Amino acid sequence: MKVKITETILRDAHQSLIATRMRTRSMLPIVDKLDEVGYFSLEMWGGATFDTSIRYLNEDPWERLRELKKHMKNTPAQMLLRGQNLVGYRHYSDDVVEKFVQKAYENGIDIFRIFDAVNDIRNMEKAITVAKKEGAHVQGTICYTISPVHTIDKYVELATGLAELECDSICIKDMAGLISPQQAYNLVKALKSAVNLPIDLHSHCTSGMAPMSYMAACRAGVDILDTALSPFAWGTSQPPTESIIAALAESRRATGLDLELISEISAYFREMKEEYRCILNPISEQIDTNVLLYQIPGGMLSNLVSQLQEQNALDKYKDVLAEMPRVRADLGYPPLVTPTSQIVGTQAVLNVLMGERYKVIPKEVKDYVRGLYGRPPQKIDDAIVGKIIGNEEPISCRPADLLEPEYEKMKAEAEKMGLIKKEEDILTYILYPAIAPAFLKGEAKEEELVPVKVEKQPSASAANMASIPTEFKVEVDGEVFNVKVNPVGGSVTVSEAQGKSRPDAASTPGAVTSHMQGMVLSVKVEVGDSICEGDIVCVIEAMKMENAIHAPHGGVVKEIFIAEGDAVSSGHVLLCID
Ligand code: MN
Repeated sequence: MKVKITETILRDAHQSLIATRMRTRSMLPIVDKLDEVGYFSLEMWGGATFDTSIRYLNEDPWERLRELKKHMKNTPAQMLLRGQNLVGYRHYSDDVVEKFVQKAYENGIDIFRIFDAVNDIRNMEKAITVAKKEGAHVQGTICYTISPVHTIDKYVELATGLAELECDSICIKDMAGLISPQQAYNLVKALKSAVNLPIDLHSHCTSGMAPMSYMAACRAGVDILDTALSPFAWGTSQPPTESIIAALAESRRATGLDLELISEISAYFREMKEEYRCILNPISEQIDTNVLLYQIPGGMLSNLVSQLQEQNALDKYKDVLAEMPRVRADLGYPPLVTPTSQIVGTQAVLNVLMGERYKVIPKEVKDYVRGLYGRPPQKIDDAIVGKIIGNEEPISCRPADLLEPEYEKMKAEAEKMGLIKKEEDILTYILYPAIAPAFLKGEAKEEELVPVKVEKQPSASAANMASIPTEFKVEVDGEVFNVKVNPVGGSVTVSEAQGKSRPDAASTPGAVTSHMQGMVLSVKVEVGDSICEGDIVCVIEAMKMENAIHAPHGGVVKEIFIAEGDAVSSGHVLLCID
């Protein structure tokens, strides 16, 4: 039987290679042609595209969906949805999940690929149920990883659960490119015999094995393969569409797709790629088998190296490398994908740089151990739980059961701010309350393409480099330390903050400065407030992690120079305390 192809060029391919920066205007001229190919689906929405559109491109993601959809007469439109996280980084309440899925369907999504970072089906069931009710095709997803607890039986159990929720197909999501040909064969075989549903294999070429694993999966009876047109294939992206079609052409699994038509389309993307060349890190096009040695996604490993190098702590590189799998084991072997990759990565770096394990623990790590991200694949050892959250008892219910409905409240808030022109704007605001206001008011600007700085390669074992490095100094519980953490699937760019110009720290008595680059998530004090040393004055988001800034001394808040949503960088004066 024919193998079907999901084309990822409009989503994962550019998310993997050019930090999700492809503009709608670059896509529109070629969608009619893509629609003629006969793909199983075109993945064109969700994942990081939503965030990037409003944060960097000044584009309305909902409008992109509608515009592309107009040209897709024959091909189903597919999106990637992070279960209860939707296209954001935290769990949203059920009423928000319901509204989002309904609106996504209404605006044109035909196929919802729904996953959860820790493969907790309870985090997927709401989105699945709503999408099914709307009439969409739901692709239940298994996040693939390697660990002592990730056995074929476990994956089969998850797939069976997804089938019981009436998913229409099952996707093996190998986001780090770890799956070997033999593993792909065994897993596809097992899933095919356990559930009577089409199986999709989604992998990345990071380790170089994906094309071989795709062939092995074909022999095991896989139904759908995810590929990207060659100009945006290889490296950290998918295997090339053309090569997979050609490789299968003479077999009983031939796709039947027209290579001539496809090469016409590829020519368009090859030319278009020039516009984005400056942000394409040549390193992300390289093969990196270190991902197999450390089971750490390529981007995470590479950024770590360049960042440690920048702060002259490259001697810590091996320590951090060794620490990552230990933290991952401590935390019950979560697959490393947004947001668990940031959670594990940050904690490992902190453990090494602080010279003591779990001396400093970000809020997200605590929440993870509390069970707020779902059930870890393996139960976390009591000693680790105690170290991280003390005497607190982790939750045992579905995390979203603890969330109050928030749609109406946030809607009222957004309306009061005058942000809402259409219903979808409410969802944009709920997902990104810090950056959405400027965007929705039309005050955002399209970011220029910032050329990638290619790092010098420090050692052979560190041959894979970062996209755009992000550094910050973090102050937690009054202590300052240097941390450089890798953004997965994006980068933080600090633009000039809006609003008041900030004074110089040296000439401002009582100044509290930011120790990191990031964005102000909330300001906890007001002018005139009396505060004590150690009080939290504001929270800065960096790399999707929340970092509380504490008052270095007590006193009265004299002036505040920041507002929610402001971008700040290291050394910026946030406020001053008399
Ligand atoms: Mn992917």
